[in-house]
Amino acid sequence: MTFNRFVKTVFLTEIVKGMALTLKTFFSPPVTRQYPKEKRPAAPGFRGLHALARDFQTGEARCVGCGLCAAVCPSKCIYIYTADSLDHKKIVERYEIEVLRCVFCGLCVEACPYSAVALTEHYEYSDYSRDAFYMTKEKLLANYDKYMGPEKDREYYRKFWHPTSDDFGTPANQAVFRGKQ
Ligand code: SF4
Ligand code: SF4
Repeated sequence: MTFNRFVKTVFLTEIVKGMALTLKTFFSPPVTRQYPKEKRPAAPGFRGLHALARDFQTGEARCVGCGLCAAVCPSKCIYIYTADSLDHKKIVERYEIEVLRCVFCGLCVEACPYSAVALTEHYEYSDYSRDAFYMTKEKLLANYDKYMGPEKDREYYRKFWHPTSDDFGTPANQAVFRGKQ
């Protein structure tokens, strides 16, 4: 046994230190939040309940049914059913997400070239039935109206998911390889 350890064992210094810390915090206000009465806002860019974004002009779903989100989804929980309209345009008849299988990785949001699918900041959606977690296109559009909307939409995609090219501009003082002169 080393001398230090011997002193600590005999004089119970670790216990005294612990008691001192307890006494120090004994009269400070508690940090526990009384959820659900006290709520903390979700962090911006939070990965919550899914939504399908609407086009700002037409109000229709932005999704064009390309299938990239479904292809990249590691849980394979996105189902897209498309059809051809009479004027040979692709229409998204059904867009469905099985939320209970989702791992909230956000890859679908990153992969979508049209900023059409989102993970909103809403996280309180417990239910007694599994059906409530099977999101149809209509439910996903309603989620967008309720938990996102155009204002949040701009911030959400631009800041967190699809930063536009000017965010990646080369800083003026950055060294650039120019090859042999
Ligand atoms: S949500 Fe985006 S990636 Fe998925 S099918 Fe629609 S347009 Fe394509
Ligand atoms: S967040 Fe990930 S797991 Fe969930 S639907 Fe999107 S790609 Fe699939």
